[in-house]
Amino acid sequence: MADEQQDPFIIFGAPDIRDDEVAEVADVLHSGWLGTGPRVARFESDFAQYKGVGPNQVAAVNSCTAGLHVSMIAAGLGPGDEVLTTAMTFCATANAIIHAGATPVPVDIDPLSQNINVELIRDRITDRTRAIVPVHFAGRPCDMDGILALAEEHGLVVIEDCAHAIETQWKGRAAGTFGEFGCFSFYVTKNITTGEGGMVLAKSEADIERIKVLALHGMTKDAWHRFGDEGYKHYQVVEAGFKYNMMDLQAAIGIHQLRRIEDCWNRREQVWKQYQREFATLPVACPADPELHTRHAYHLYTLALDADVCGIGRDDFIAEMSKAGVGVGVHYLSLASHPHYQQRFGWRPGDYPVAQTIGERTVSLPLSAKLTDIEIERILETTHRVLTA
Ligand SMILES: *Cc1c(COP(=O)(O)O)cnc(C)c1O
Repeated sequence: MADEQQDPFIIFGAPDIRDDEVAEVADVLHSGWLGTGPRVARFESDFAQYKGVGPNQVAAVNSCTAGLHVSMIAAGLGPGDEVLTTAMTFCATANAIIHAGATPVPVDIDPLSQNINVELIRDRITDRTRAIVPVHFAGRPCDMDGILALAEEHGLVVIEDCAHAIETQWKGRAAGTFGEFGCFSFYVTKNITTGEGGMVLAKSEADIERIKVLALHGMTKDAWHRFGDEGYKHYQVVEAGFKYNMMDLQAAIGIHQLRRIEDCWNRREQVWKQYQREFATLPVACPADPELHTRHAYHLYTLALDADVCGIGRDDFIAEMSKAGVGVGVHYLSLASHPHYQQRFGWRPGDYPVAQTIGERTVSLPLSAKLTDIEIERILETTHRVLTA
């Protein structure tokens, strides 16, 4: 115990930054070109290649939230439109829908996959429903066959929130390539990081062109090159856009993160499986194993604690882990548990009972590729100790 206190705190979601990233960022700083430029172009083309899409089907932005927002605008969503999404997601998913002027409509989740329950989607479709925003929760793919079939039947746009799902596949097809749009996050804790950052994939090259305009003040596409070697060029504002562009400083990090993506995935898979083995005997609910014909991105490893079964509530567990120097997270309280949405839309947590229960019980353990074997031992030991006390 005493030794444990002295061990350094294990930061939840610590990024795995190496010398390559540091050197590339230094090069950017020395080059004087910090903003959107050649590194962003390279990161976009590398990401397109990784995802197996065309070079004009990607747009780098400064967050996944920004990507979701401009995707919704490009999809033509606006006031009066209803957008279905999962009751168990980060607030950014719902906020992006709201900022586009549309109304988010939560759908409860499947207790095993913790993804949107496709069986329940149909009940929430009205004549105002225009889109579905599935979230591949924790890196586990949603049932894309079911979602695409419903979208087809009802003429809905699909915008995938792939913030957890860079490496995710469903039946051999990459997450983010099912919907009209797929949005990725490179926030610090995500599977690859640029500090802050995001990427949009779109089926339509015209949508990507519009997104690039929207993400840079609504200035004509050439504005992205207006400070280039060819000298100053006039630009035209063609709509009221946003300031959502990624910088070369960020892309410099992303280029090298993307190169190591498979190594990091392998490491997280190893840790995820070790957790599954080591926690199988504990009185907690471990995540379901990945479904056949899918690739899990292993973004989060979540336990669900039922105080009546394991003798300690989720929040007390978090306090004990923190005291022992293990940083943990909560992904997430259900959307309907937040006061703003309750006041604005009249949502009640009990209307989404599975999301509500998981939101009260879930806790995420560290799953960074940066974790050392010694840190993993400490996490395993501490978890066992706290849950069997
Ligand atoms: C992190 C996250 C986002 C937002 O990503 P940012 O890049 O931080 O904007 C959106 N949706 C989900 C599910 C997330 O986990």
